[in-house]
Amino acid sequence: MDFQFTEEQKMFQQSLRDMLEKEFAPIVDERDRKGPLTRDEAIGVMKKLKQVGVGLDPESIEDLLDPVLFGIIAEEFGRVWPSLLPLFGMGAIPAIFAPSASEEVRNRLLPRLERGEFIGCFAETEPEAGCDTSNLATTARLEGDYYIVNGTKSWISNATIADTAFVGVKDADTGNHTFLLVEKEISPFEATESPKLGWKASPTGEMFFDECKVPRENEMSLLMERAFSSGTLRIPAGFMKLLTSMTPVTAMLTIPRAGMGLASVGIAQAAFEASVKYARERVQFGKPIGRFQLIQEMLYEMNVLIETARLLGYKAMSLIVEGDPEARKYSAMTKVYGGEAAIRVTNMAIQIHGGMGISEEMPLERYYRDARMMTIPDGTSEIMKLISGYSILGKGFSAYR
Ligand SMILES: Cc1cc2nc3c(=O)[nH]c(=O)nc-3n(C[C@H](O)[C@H](O)[C@H](O)COP(=O)(O)OP(=O)(O)OC[C@H]3O[C@@H](n4cnc5c(N)ncnc54)[C@H](O)[C@@H]3O)c2cc1C
Repeated sequence: MDFQFTEEQKMFQQSLRDMLEKEFAPIVDERDRKGPLTRDEAIGVMKKLKQVGVGLDPESIEDLLDPVLFGIIAEEFGRVWPSLLPLFGMGAIPAIFAPSASEEVRNRLLPRLERGEFIGCFAETEPEAGCDTSNLATTARLEGDYYIVNGTKSWISNATIADTAFVGVKDADTGNHTFLLVEKEISPFEATESPKLGWKASPTGEMFFDECKVPRENEMSLLMERAFSSGTLRIPAGFMKLLTSMTPVTAMLTIPRAGMGLASVGIAQAAFEASVKYARERVQFGKPIGRFQLIQEMLYEMNVLIETARLLGYKAMSLIVEGDPEARKYSAMTKVYGGEAAIRVTNMAIQIHGGMGISEEMPLERYYRDARMMTIPDGTSEIMKLISGYSILGKGFSAYR
């Protein structure tokens, strides 16, 4: 068995870590507290990351489609600034389809992608359709060459700064669930911010579609057909196996879900590193608190949770690389285990830091708030457990269908 990254993966991880440490670590606590990034700030972030090959342009996005590299990106972002992850994790979904969009939309999006000025979102959740996405109320009515979209989406990452959205809709004629690529200037929509506990710098909001006119060519099955026939989308063989053995959206979500698990590992790692340092330095009863067995027990537990979640996460990613049918279960398990592990680890990190743990002078309270976010977006822990249960038991055992 091989538990090591390749040399290339190690170099990528190091250059990304160096960049995050240099550019973002010094400002993260102050900037995160101020709330959602503006569109200009988000574009500034994307341009910096493009320098180390992390981007949504057609060339860089191939790295995001490499599950192990995406895992590394998620873990490193988690360690320094989890709020940045949705810019890439959610933005990647519309970006993948942009080169296959209708000509007018494509001409608008490709230069923006190349310049690192594209902000996308994936809009599925609705006020009455959270876990149950089979119950969408957003409709798309076909009129000639356009779909007319009406409905509201909630809790959408990047909603207020996105120029392009990949929007889940119910076809008003057939009742089928599909997605449309919606470019804001051609197909206008409104969005408002929804304040929340953690990931403070990540915009999250409601989106409103009112008779929004979207070119018919931007419907998902047509986008996929064009992407495959034109070769604009180079899908690795293993991931292609997943795309053809389950619904495309289910396959597409395996990467961000395992990514969320690994971003959780990154948050937990940062909290653990701070705790080890503090346990060595903080003196009580005449000795460093690290000499107390109860502190050592917490450090042991934190370390083993992190290592287990990391192994599970990269195992999920390697199963996605291979196109293994177990990939869906492992990505679901990674998301639950990583998220729950990060909550426990950051909670213990606060305990080890005593009063300083809950002070805004140190980042521990942010780690805890950011960790608490991880069990909800991209599928709650409960739904991930039910997906795992169904995958273990097989056909006929879905708990919610
Ligand atoms: C910060 C953030 C970012 C997000 N980003 C996006 C995004 O970019 N795009 C997007 O489309 N969505 C996004 N979401 C929405 C997210 O996916 C939903 O919040 C999530 O799917 C849960 O939906 P809900 O909040 O309506 O909870 P509900 O569906 O109302 O669930 C409430 C509770 O009931 C449980 N539950 C529901 N059904 C079952 C069941 N069958 N068995 C057991 N328990 C069940 C849930 O697990 C949860 O604990 C985001 C959410 C957050 C908080």
